[in-house]
Amino acid sequence: MKTKQIILQARPVGKPTPDDFKIVEIDLPALQSGQLLLKGLYFSVDPYMRGRMNDAKSYTAPFKLNDAINGGVIAEVIESKSEKYSIGEIVVGALPWQVNCVITDDAALQKIDAKYEHPSYYLGALGMPGLTAYFGLLDIGKPKTGETVVVSGAAGAVGILVGQIAKINGCRVIGIAGTDEKAKELVETFGFNEVINYKTTTDLKAAILGTCPKGIDVYFDNVGGEISDAVIANINFNARIVLCGQIALYNNTEVSMGPRLQPILLTRSVLMQGFIVSNYADRFEEGTAKLKLWMDEGKMIYKETIENGFENLPKALIGLFEGKNTGKMIVRI
Ligand code: NAP
Repeated sequence: MKTKQIILQARPVGKPTPDDFKIVEIDLPALQSGQLLLKGLYFSVDPYMRGRMNDAKSYTAPFKLNDAINGGVIAEVIESKSEKYSIGEIVVGALPWQVNCVITDDAALQKIDAKYEHPSYYLGALGMPGLTAYFGLLDIGKPKTGETVVVSGAAGAVGILVGQIAKINGCRVIGIAGTDEKAKELVETFGFNEVINYKTTTDLKAAILGTCPKGIDVYFDNVGGEISDAVIANINFNARIVLCGQIALYNNTEVSMGPRLQPILLTRSVLMQGFIVSNYADRFEEGTAKLKLWMDEGKMIYKETIENGFENLPKALIGLFEGKNTGKMIVRI
């Protein structure tokens, strides 16, 4: 059987381009005992993948040149020579960017309810981004009722949840996002108190002070760069900064310089802590259960931006760096 695969053809310098990827056709091996044939249904594109395109040491290994890209995928079992999986079951796991793939049944796959209305949410609100928002905000941010929480990258897969979890915890929530449409939707549909469009605001520091007259108690940082400089200038005594992502810097080819933040952190007794969601792997079950409960109770809602077609995976990934998504960016086959 033949299938399509997307490989990393070149390591990007700066923002990735379509030429960094290539679609190839490969032969799949015949299914052996203990193996499954999967068909990809929904593919996740995530900002961390940009880091894996570099040949640099990090918390995940770099993608190999001329090898399949690999990421979060929801797939259907279409053939099984394993007692653990049956045809028709739906699984989520880290899988290659291939329309079909053969894997062994000891791979780290999670079965999901085939009848669940939104299986792709297991790549978003009920998956890695949801757990990132949940543990980052609650475990590091420790928001208290009446406090002010600012979240950058507010309209994205993680940010849209951070704002809602902060509201559930009784906080005033200010988002920062890149278009007026996103800002309007975050306020009207997702319950944010106010949202600043960082692309049209000339004095971000003043705008943040205007929306946070009592200062900022928790900053959930998804983007870094000048946006975070402006937020941290307004940070309160004993505030917590949750260092989740730095997407504004991922395509930089030189080390970016900014203000020295240590005097502010020191004199205001601020905690700033980075984290990787996998630090919380032993509590994922707890996080997923809570997120699912909030979704089922209607306390939390979610949104996806869906691109159709396997060949659009590179375009969707590049789109993250152009603000093309609201909520989770997904590619549906
Ligand atoms: P996302 O927010 O769904 O997608 C990226 C968004 O970032 C875009 O839609 C865009 O929205 C914004 N953006 C792109 N370039 C920007 C720039 N130069 N300056 C400011 N904003 C920019 O992505 P996500 O999956 O939710 O991830 C959000 C952040 O969390 C990323 O930095 C990611 O690496 C990080 N993350 C960390 C962990 C962890 O374990 N620590 C786990 C998951 C994600 P606008 O229209 O608003 O510009």
